[in-house]
Amino acid sequence: MTDFYETLGVGRQADEAELRRAYRQLAKQHHPDLHGGDAAAATRFKEINEAYEVLRDPQKRALYDRYGAAAFQGGGRAAAGEGAASDLGDLFDQLFNFSGGRRRGRGPSTGERGEDLQLKLRLEFREAVFGATRKVQVGRQETCAACQGSGAAEGSKPVTCRTCQGQGEVRQVQQSVFGQYVNVQACPTCRGRGQTVDKPCETCRGQGRQTRQHSLDVDVPAGVEEGIQIRLTGEGSHGRFGGPPGDLFVVLQVREDPVFLRQGTDLLLALRLNAADAALGAELDIPTLEGDTRLAIPAGTQTGDQFTIDGQGVPHLRRGGRGKLVVTTFVATPEKLGSRERGLYEQLRAGLPPSAVVERTGTGGRIWQKIKDLFA
Ligand SMILES: [Zn+2]
Ligand SMILES: [Zn+2]
Repeated sequence: MTDFYETLGVGRQADEAELRRAYRQLAKQHHPDLHGGDAAAATRFKEINEAYEVLRDPQKRALYDRYGAAAFQGGGRAAAGEGAASDLGDLFDQLFNFSGGRRRGRGPSTGERGEDLQLKLRLEFREAVFGATRKVQVGRQETCAACQGSGAAEGSKPVTCRTCQGQGEVRQVQQSVFGQYVNVQACPTCRGRGQTVDKPCETCRGQGRQTRQHSLDVDVPAGVEEGIQIRLTGEGSHGRFGGPPGDLFVVLQVREDPVFLRQGTDLLLALRLNAADAALGAELDIPTLEGDTRLAIPAGTQTGDQFTIDGQGVPHLRRGGRGKLVVTTFVATPEKLGSRERGLYEQLRAGLPPSAVVERTGTGGRIWQKIKDLFA
């Protein structure tokens, strides 16, 4: 357990002004906005806030001096957690000039953060490959337009909660075998808001929010895959009573393509070669994602031979460039022959080497490798 005085770098005799100075300096230094979401910085920032939240309050400080941090664990967490956030809101507004969002009006609570929402978005195969902008609709809770989120009927205002006298929390001093401790909980009447409404707004029934269909554009970057989530910060439900909004997570689903099979950034294509093209070689038109291209098949092409076209695969999601298109050939043996073809094949047979067992070494190795690959 860290020492709150140590956390703030002050002595145990530090007065209010000294505490405040130390806190402001540290909070500025460790503010998450300056550290790009670095987890260690965020933890440090939280510790600083928790320490200051306790030490700035003479009552809490006295408890801490007597019982240590244990006085603020368990039920007490609410004091160092939720409560801290609210007072910090004010302080940060002063320190960093934050505009809106954090809280409105005075009161002990920041208001509840809006819910995160999840939405499935089904993409066409090519939209996933090349990216797209898609309009989506999400049903979410939005700040009630009739009462501007206060929950109070027109002409009335929220009033101070009678249960907690506007503190947003209720505290009880309790005795346990370990000594006396303070149990602090969010006020059950106002749920930590510190205010209640006598005459609820009719539109939202006092909830401060109403369900709305919200439509927005989702930018899908090129190269996304099935299952990837796009996070749209602040596009979830609005917070209650001035709380910050939640996030919207868009989960991508991608339709299969009838000819291309995607493997990471590579695309696989299967090409059926007739026996004559395989034996004699051919120039064939094959599809790519951007139209047909000509592929030269050399004479003597075998089943399972592969031809690679660089740069015709899927774009890499993060770094530049694209994967490759890999064409695998299958030599098709005719299943039915007309009498003319039968005659030609009979002639052909006379000139071909006889069918035989394939040695596992030498030239047979290549065929064996394909057999192993098939069974792998
Ligand atoms: Zn309302
Ligand atoms: Zn209350």
